[in-house]
Amino acid sequence: MSVDAHAGVFAAPKLNKDGKLPLIGMNADEMIARITEDLSVPKFRAKQVWHWIYQRGAHDFSTMQNLPKDLREKLDATYSIARPECVTEQKSSDGTIKWLLRMDDGQEVEAVFIPEEKRGTLCISSQVGCTLTCRFCHTGTQKLVRNLGAAEILHQIMFARDKLEEWPSSGSRGEDGADSRELTNIVFMGMGEPLYNYDNVARAIKICTDGEGISISRRRITLSTSGVVPNIVRCGEELGVNLAISLHAANDDLRSDIMPINRKYPLKELLDACRNYPGVSPARRITFEYVMLKDVNDTDKDARELTKILEGIPAKINLIPFNPWPGSGYERSTNERIQKFGDIVNRAGYASPIRKPRGEDILAACGQLKSESQRISPRRKRDAEVEN
Ligand code: SAH
Ligand code: SF4
Repeated sequence: MSVDAHAGVFAAPKLNKDGKLPLIGMNADEMIARITEDLSVPKFRAKQVWHWIYQRGAHDFSTMQNLPKDLREKLDATYSIARPECVTEQKSSDGTIKWLLRMDDGQEVEAVFIPEEKRGTLCISSQVGCTLTCRFCHTGTQKLVRNLGAAEILHQIMFARDKLEEWPSSGSRGEDGADSRELTNIVFMGMGEPLYNYDNVARAIKICTDGEGISISRRRITLSTSGVVPNIVRCGEELGVNLAISLHAANDDLRSDIMPINRKYPLKELLDACRNYPGVSPARRITFEYVMLKDVNDTDKDARELTKILEGIPAKINLIPFNPWPGSGYERSTNERIQKFGDIVNRAGYASPIRKPRGEDILAACGQLKSESQRISPRRKRDAEVEN
């Protein structure tokens, strides 16, 4: 598939299956204008609805106790705030949880919660599948692709908060005043290329960082991109989130081979965009993700080349042991190789943490995500074999 194929992706549906208008996905001004206009209620009533939805996590109008009953009924008849259906919840032996969520049109996406000692990271999807075809990535093999709407992106966060029982968003302080919530960070590292769905991703981020609502700081949100150059600087200017770049190779030949997007936006352009990323500084570095593929990109020479091309960019290099999936054709570099590679990068002055694979036993690790509907179940596979 060409790297321009994203141009033809389908959009998310506008009304839900009951013909009601979803309120989630609207920002404060839009929601207040909409409700006051549709239902002829004073502004403060509409503001209460916003708070119930984004601050308190209500997913049923009947729970909005400080609203008159007839208004609650009217809201329910007109709008929807229902969560997507959770098809499966899988828990890994390391505590990672993967949810498969079914959207209104039946499409499915995965969100993964990764608890750590001092924080908890929710990894969310921006598209169903991905139009890009990075050769090491399972998501890229999924055929059906569409952008997620802003609401569908927010739903993943709100759903996780439901499950972790972390509403209201302002009320989870421990005795020492510290944030005692489990869900502290968000990364756009699930399915899809977020910068090919810029408008919806931007809208979702703006709503999710609104201090009157879900209230997650932009400093705690990281957007990972394969390198959609025209939207990188814009992302920094308009959204101010942390940036992660899926680099994975230190020269154009190899990068174009394993990441076709490099043919459109080669390394020089990509790294120039990183140099110009608003707000980047030694205190706020760009993360470069580097998947360790055995005998492909993991030699000492690759490591030295990598440090050279990043010269002058405040950078951290995140080494990701390759997560295998059926039919990938790649192998993970050995631990010794990853360590040695990391040492070279480290000696050149870059932090080079090795990402610990999480949730491998439930195919929840980086690059393993793919909608369940796109996998052939052992039974369907058997049936297909019988038919042939
Ligand atoms: N499309 C975006 C975000 C999703 S991918 C991007 O490419 O950045 C999240 C991260 O997982 C990326 O760095 C991606 O390159 C990496 N990844 C993909 N497949 C992987 C695999 N099989 N093993 C380890 N990491 C992988
Ligand atoms: Fe898409 Fe990112 Fe996977 Fe590449 S690595 S196919 S851009 S999800």
